[in-house]
Amino acid sequence: MSTMIENKGKTHSHRNGGNAHMSSRKAAIQSIQSREPVNSSVDYTRSTVSEIYGSNVFNRHIMRTMLPKAVYKAVLRCLDHGERLDANHADIVANAMKDWAISKGCSHFTHWFTPLTGLTAEKHDSFLVSGGDEGLAILEFSGKVLIQGEPDASSFPSGGIRSTFEARGYTGWDPTSPAFIMESTNGKTLCIPTVFCSFSGQALDKKTPLLRSLEAINKQAVRMLHLLGNKEVKRVICTVGPEQEYFLIDEAFYFQRPDLINSGRALFGARPPKGQEMEDHYWGSIKERVLAFMMDSENELYKLGVPVKTRHNEVAPAQFEVAPVFESSNVATDHNMVLMEVFRKTAQKHGLRCLFHEKPFSGVNGSGKHNNWSMADDEGNNLLEPGSTTLSNTQFVVVLAAVIRAVNKYAKLVRASVAFAGNDHRLGANEAPPAIISIFLGDKLTEVVQSIIQGKTGSDKMSGRTIEFGVSHLPTLPRDDSDRNRTSPFAFTGNKFEFRAVGSSQSIAWPNTILNAIVADSLDYMATEIESLIKSGTELDVAVAKVVKETLSKNERILFNGDNYSQAWHDEAEKRGLPNLKSTIEALPVLIEDDAKELFSKFGILQEDELVSRYNIMLEGYCKTINVEALLTANMATTMILPAALEYQNRVATTVVQTKQAISGVNLTSQEGMLRELCEKVNKLRESIELLESLSHSNKDDDNESELFAHAKFYQNKVIPAMNEVRSIADELEMIVDDSLWPLPKFREMLYIY
Ligand code: ADP
Ligand code: MG
Repeated sequence: MSTMIENKGKTHSHRNGGNAHMSSRKAAIQSIQSREPVNSSVDYTRSTVSEIYGSNVFNRHIMRTMLPKAVYKAVLRCLDHGERLDANHADIVANAMKDWAISKGCSHFTHWFTPLTGLTAEKHDSFLVSGGDEGLAILEFSGKVLIQGEPDASSFPSGGIRSTFEARGYTGWDPTSPAFIMESTNGKTLCIPTVFCSFSGQALDKKTPLLRSLEAINKQAVRMLHLLGNKEVKRVICTVGPEQEYFLIDEAFYFQRPDLINSGRALFGARPPKGQEMEDHYWGSIKERVLAFMMDSENELYKLGVPVKTRHNEVAPAQFEVAPVFESSNVATDHNMVLMEVFRKTAQKHGLRCLFHEKPFSGVNGSGKHNNWSMADDEGNNLLEPGSTTLSNTQFVVVLAAVIRAVNKYAKLVRASVAFAGNDHRLGANEAPPAIISIFLGDKLTEVVQSIIQGKTGSDKMSGRTIEFGVSHLPTLPRDDSDRNRTSPFAFTGNKFEFRAVGSSQSIAWPNTILNAIVADSLDYMATEIESLIKSGTELDVAVAKVVKETLSKNERILFNGDNYSQAWHDEAEKRGLPNLKSTIEALPVLIEDDAKELFSKFGILQEDELVSRYNIMLEGYCKTINVEALLTANMATTMILPAALEYQNRVATTVVQTKQAISGVNLTSQEGMLRELCEKVNKLRESIELLESLSHSNKDDDNESELFAHAKFYQNKVIPAMNEVRSIADELEMIVDDSLWPLPKFREMLYIY
């Protein structure tokens, strides 16, 4: 006992006398033991959040104080009513932005955009324009430079658009998302959110279609509200609050995992003996070091005006969640990208690594991003908030019916909006919603919807209030307080919908673009129906009631309040004819089906070539992701796992031989059995690696579209199973090979020691 205590914390164990693997894994653990929580640049006990909040944002407050009144008013018209800002005004805004940025210590600026890589892009320029006649620096920033940039687009994915047009891309200022300052070790950079398009205006980014979808839904929603009698409303926006899940592990482990470094997830690793079954992590007390990281990140985010609000431990060990207060869809999307960037950077400062992959560790829960979505008018009224007046309830029921129709009619598109390799590990794995899209409404709202469908006037048993649906009244709605259904992919949670199938690493721009597009389509459809009834002499109330009733009846099959994980639901969903697109490869082709093309072009969100290019990029992305994983799997298995297994095999063999030499007639059945098992597994491992390598080398030409799809299918049907086979044997070996020889930090270490 005493020897064990004395040995604790020593780098080398007596057993292997300095074996390299043992010492590096042990050394990692030892270095973690001595880590201290890292101080943040701010001490919240001294400075309040309101002092810090937005200090690095060129926000309305700054503009009001820096801009001439007329210019500020023009900016407000641009922000609130979508009016264009003219060139003179842009010049004045640019100049103020520059002065502000320089006063805050910025030397450079960048157009900040979201190309189709799924990450953000930045190319920094200094404010310096010339040395001047006297050799002194002249700093300038014109409206022209603010409004448009011309980065070389040739190295960003274009999915075929690029080959037909010139390589140049254009970035265009998005004044609706405020410019902000990113701080780094040796200076600061002014970041200006922009769209990114080709020479002839095709979208090459995620923001452009999102903005176009917001325009579409605004137009249709305003049209609908005017029709319903709400003549005051001028603009409708979408509101979004994305809850973000992530893992944190110590960098000492991370550096020893080439798979985490290069593919974002562990390609090997046996399930930890203690997983999440004790349910002791969710909402548990947050470890000091992690809390220090959280507070430090929050400080950076507050400065950037990102309203982060909640933080807690998630279900899996080493898994956490952060949620902001909701904002307008466009800003929330940019802020989520900023949040991920700040988390990555801050984690490094704290000796940690932040993993946003959907499934970094198989065997424990993966990570998602719950996209809370609603609509609000220009007075800030939530259109999905059941109200107390007839008008607000009419609005509520109409919007509700529109969403139900949208998700039912375009269930496949909703599924496709979250289709990519990482999310395939998660959807349908009984920890995240299944690939079958359905809507949870809760008992009370379901009762209301049913009474509308059945044309009933009934009474609400819970509140005792009467539910009427007829000529002059829509139902009085009780506030939803039913149990939240955690298994539903699309749940109504009181005053918003929560789309839970979004992956933790993906930008929320695309899922929101699709949500906005399909709801715009429903509003358009319903408004047209109501208008034509009115034209033929029907009274407004009657027309609205009729269209709502019809819409709900026709789309009822999408509603499901039960357990989405159960087999019974899978069977039931099939009976209802709901699509079940289990994987990325099944889901992506939906994007180029006729009704998707029609939907996107009808509202000017994406023209056919833009949509097809996106489809190609997503397929390419899938192939590339699996290819990297396959190469890494083969490489790590060959150079790390096989040698460890062989070394152990050699040790056991030596033991058997030497024991036989030492004592004759001794029973070595057990040791020989171990040796045989090892040899068999090593053989199997070697064979599985060979198969995987042969598949990875049979790369196909993926220049044309159908070849690309065939290629992606090949990855799904052949390469992934081959990779899984290598992993499963390697994981079996992990369970029998001498721990001191195992080269990769184990799950039981990475998920618990930090
Ligand atoms: P839960 O974990 O119970 O789902 P959270 O409080 O963690 O709830 O997250 C709810 C998210 O929904 C928050 O980001 C919140 O700001 C957001 N939200 C609330 N109201 C709206 C709304 N009207 N539109 C969009 N998002 C909203
Ligand atoms: Mg949630």
